[in-house]
Amino acid sequence: MSQEQTFLAIKPDAVQRGLIGPIITRFERRGYKLRAIKLIVPDRSLLEKHYDEHKGKPFFEKLVGFMGSGPVCAMVWEGKDVVKTGRAMLGATNPLNSAPGTIRGDYGIDLGRNVCHGSDSVDSAKYEINLWFQPTEIQQYDRAIEGWIYE
Ligand code: GDP
Ligand code: MG
Repeated sequence: MSQEQTFLAIKPDAVQRGLIGPIITRFERRGYKLRAIKLIVPDRSLLEKHYDEHKGKPFFEKLVGFMGSGPVCAMVWEGKDVVKTGRAMLGATNPLNSAPGTIRGDYGIDLGRNVCHGSDSVDSAKYEINLWFQPTEIQQYDRAIEGWIYE
């Protein structure tokens, strides 16, 4: 079985709005395994690396300012196809284009307040996990329910 990992960050808007619990619950209920979690106010250097692909775009400064404006809940989640499925659970980048039932579709309205980040590929997940977490912060553990989630 593939033990793919993704990086999720509950953004400052969702932390302020009390949405950490509901977002984590969706991933737990789906069957994914939480490997790492921390509250962190990311500094500019971390955010510039995290959003490197958007450097120079008109929204970059606003995005970095917003993401560093308060605590972010950074997480590593593991499971089969978790990168693609995690993005599907998040919904479209613009919450107004996100279907109801998705995280952004249920909790967001504005593009610049879209609640939660999720890695967009296996390669970017590896890059982001390595950027946000030390190896010692990532927990390796077994779950007794594994056989009830995967055949
Ligand atoms: P994501 O991977 O779905 O988060 O989307 P992107 O990687 O394209 O963009 C990163 C983040 O930048 C998004 O989640 C939005 O919060 C923000 N963003 C993207 N495009 C725009 C834009 O055109 N205007 C503004 N204000 N923010 C944007
Ligand atoms: Mg992205």
